[in-house]
Amino acid sequence: VAAASAVLHDVWGYDAFRGEQADVVETVVRGGDALVLMPTGGGKSLCYQVPALVREGTGVVVSPLIALMQDQVDALSALGVRAGFLNSTQQPHQRRAVEDAYLAGELDLLYLAPERLRVRETVELLDRGTVALFAIDEAHCVSQWGHDFRPDYLRLSMLHERWPEVPRVALTATATDQTHAEIAERLQLEDARHFVASFDRPNIQYRIAPKDKPREQLLDLLRTEHEGDAGIVYCLSRSSVEQTAQFLVERGVTALPYHAGLDRQVRARNQSRFLREEGVVMVATIAFGMGIDKPDVRFVAHLDLPKSVEGYYQETGRAGRDGLASTAWLAYGLADVVQQRRMIDTSEGDAAHKRRLTAHLDAMLALCETVGCRRVQLLNYFGQASQPCGNCDTCLTPPESWDGTVAAQKLLSTVVRLDQRGQRYGVGHLVDILRGKATPRVTQLGHTSLSTFGVGTDLSDGAWRGVARQLLAAELLGVDTDGYGTLRLTADSASVLRGERQVRLRRESSTVARTRAPRAR
Ligand code: ADP
Ligand code: ZN
Repeated sequence: VAAASAVLHDVWGYDAFRGEQADVVETVVRGGDALVLMPTGGGKSLCYQVPALVREGTGVVVSPLIALMQDQVDALSALGVRAGFLNSTQQPHQRRAVEDAYLAGELDLLYLAPERLRVRETVELLDRGTVALFAIDEAHCVSQWGHDFRPDYLRLSMLHERWPEVPRVALTATATDQTHAEIAERLQLEDARHFVASFDRPNIQYRIAPKDKPREQLLDLLRTEHEGDAGIVYCLSRSSVEQTAQFLVERGVTALPYHAGLDRQVRARNQSRFLREEGVVMVATIAFGMGIDKPDVRFVAHLDLPKSVEGYYQETGRAGRDGLASTAWLAYGLADVVQQRRMIDTSEGDAAHKRRLTAHLDAMLALCETVGCRRVQLLNYFGQASQPCGNCDTCLTPPESWDGTVAAQKLLSTVVRLDQRGQRYGVGHLVDILRGKATPRVTQLGHTSLSTFGVGTDLSDGAWRGVARQLLAAELLGVDTDGYGTLRLTADSASVLRGERQVRLRRESSTVARTRAPRAR
């Protein structure tokens, strides 16, 4: 253990281990297995890099992040650590050089893409040298229901079978109980020591805003709070990545696009500009970001609703790794709920799979619609209790709630009345009916004669959309699979219509409530 502290100091220049690091390092140095759940930026790398230097032999790191291996090796080399990698991007002679270094005992760390272990030569190569430990990075990739599943990760239980005496450390920033259990089981780490760090990131201010004109809202955020800052903007589709990047560039922001449909070289160039230059805004799909270690990302913005809290947490976790105040901002609206419910309905996969997707979405929606502290809700999802943080939008500007039962009944009974005529419509048309707008369409369809025509003049269009969104989020209202976003009743709608169920709703502010500037930690 003294040796570990010396390595930490001499190689990295750090004074002390952080949090769980010391215990993990000690466990692995002594030859024990460890399963480490630590948030992004928590310092997972040192948990295997230090033991690899202390123990005899080479630390073998299995990582899916092929695009980052060169960067990781360069960073280690700069510290004087002897590191190399083996993946499919290399020329045979480059691979040979790394293999020779390993066999000569001249490597402290060897990064391996998981598919390398499919090849018998790799297994034999490892046998001919000395393995100090196996590190399984991004271990949640073994979870078949997670968003980053890699089939080759399932094979990693072979490490234990083939080299039972070599300690293993699996690491991830994804930490629901379910993923945790799945990693332990699939990687045969039940007997390992489990280290679960706090998932709180106090320097990140979480904010979820009603979506109105998302690009304008984003621009406003950048100009008022994050002028010249580096940040990531996540969009759901490739086309909206392109459009958003262009929108920002036209308004003087240094923004670059990143998605899987772009040419590989363009992607690599944009990624490297983001990492090396200051103040670059990366507009990306979720294809971007895993393993990106840029300490001064000051904001992460989502223009579309993430599919799960895990995904949201990982993506927002890329902000503020340096511990300084940062913003996680999400624009969320009715269309997001409609779109995602429909995507689940029309997705391939069996009923169990759809139920899982629905459960993920519901947890995300609960986070969006909560009137309580976002951080409490987020940490609670990861099984960690906490107190209201005072540094999220709902803590800073507590939303009011109101009894929306009657409004819900008005909206749902309009859906019923249309249904009786064999008709289904989207939100816009429903709101027109409720607000008593005799538009040409409403008149032509004879909807001015519906008994609910004009019963909702007390609420604004925006307020009605807020009601509809919250009913959708709570599954008191459903979306058709026809692709037009038309609305239908759900199994739970009847209890509202019969007055057996009270509906409490969040009051929507017509403008985007601006919270005060983020606090430093
Ligand atoms: P993770 O992989 O968990 O996202 P990293 O291993 O990349 O996190 O560490 C995040 C940052 O914290 C890095 O810049 C790293 O150098 C720094 N760091 C980690 N441990 C320590 C420590 N004990 N003392 C000082 N800095 C540390
Ligand atoms: Zn809070």
